[in-house]
Amino acid sequence: MNIWLSIFGPTTHGESAAQVAAGVRRAGANALLVFTSLYHGYRLLQRRYPQKAIYTLETDRVFWQPDQALYKDCAIQPQRSRELGAMDLVAELAEACKTEGVLLSALVPVCAGERLAQEYPDLAVTNLYGAKDRLFLCYNNPAVRAYRMAMIRDLVGRYELDALMLDKIPQIMLEQRAFSGLFDAPLRTVGSFCFCQHCQAAGKKYGLNLDEARARALEIARRSLKIPAHIVEALGHQLVGDTEIPLLLLEEPLIRRMLEFRFQSAVDFVGELKRLAKSLRPRLIFQAAFVPPAHIGHDMTSPRAWLTIQSYKLYREVLDEIFCVVHWDAQTVRFETERSVAAVEGKTRVVTSMRLYGATRPEEVAELAEAALAGGSQGVSFLGYDVAGDELLNALRAWSDSCDRPAQAGQG
Ligand SMILES: [Zn+2]
Repeated sequence: MNIWLSIFGPTTHGESAAQVAAGVRRAGANALLVFTSLYHGYRLLQRRYPQKAIYTLETDRVFWQPDQALYKDCAIQPQRSRELGAMDLVAELAEACKTEGVLLSALVPVCAGERLAQEYPDLAVTNLYGAKDRLFLCYNNPAVRAYRMAMIRDLVGRYELDALMLDKIPQIMLEQRAFSGLFDAPLRTVGSFCFCQHCQAAGKKYGLNLDEARARALEIARRSLKIPAHIVEALGHQLVGDTEIPLLLLEEPLIRRMLEFRFQSAVDFVGELKRLAKSLRPRLIFQAAFVPPAHIGHDMTSPRAWLTIQSYKLYREVLDEIFCVVHWDAQTVRFETERSVAAVEGKTRVVTSMRLYGATRPEEVAELAEAALAGGSQGVSFLGYDVAGDELLNALRAWSDSCDRPAQAGQG
């Protein structure tokens, strides 16, 4: 069974790659997920590194030494981290993990990129009003695809990785509220769609006229915007759910088709990425991190699975392993793991990824891990090594030691 930990990149201040790999082992884990770049400059609080306890992540800067020749036809060139100097974090971890017998997976954020979306607005999602998004890139845009394909070629082709993890795939959607008010569910839905020229072209391939869909989206948005903000706020706790959405889909077939089109084109894109990755490294485990089927995801957009284009069932043919990311309590972990495992019907593996930071209590670590396994998770994952305190890493070690399952690195 694999027990995963993760690091956000150059966030193990003062520890060499060998010390990180040994530290992962010491915490009872046998697999490490490394973020190869971050789509947003999250601020971290790192209690185990008192010399750098408050650390802000760089945005869209890569933590390895890219082979620039691979990007020569791309609109975007990868920009190196300014923290790492000449260090190639992925190369050093690959070697250290191999020595330590720890599996290594490299995480690539595919469709989110805060700095890229702002520097290259032509690549960003274009909403129903023609306004550019500042976080999400459109996966139907050939320049976005070319850049991420080159990145996968670069990472998988040049480094001895055991696995590749797609993150933010595709996760194009609005958050629950804007600065100046709440999005009700229909507005959040139609406001999450991309209507860029590349989506229009892709829509034709799937038999959908995006001009017509956009006209309906505008009408649905108009109805929502007519209701004063204070009324929407007053009903806030009822409107954040998806209550109105089944009716919307029954009444508005174009909106339903638009959601289907998003799934079809996204799954096709992931299939393309998989073919490339497997051609470079046939034994590679091709993974993606998904939000839970029923609860909101924990990140800044409060993602919902159906709106963020993440279905365990629809992607099961194109992914070897799906990380079901549930940063909530043990009951939620059990529920969401059961749902995900049921959806994939044995056609791909599900590994539940849980919270090893913040509100997680040390005595809860074993409960979380057992809840995931009871729900059918094949292995467990915790985020993360760099943000966990000693008491949580020790608790993970104690749980790992107590299970009779062999903690051997390997596929599956
Ligand atoms: Zn688009």
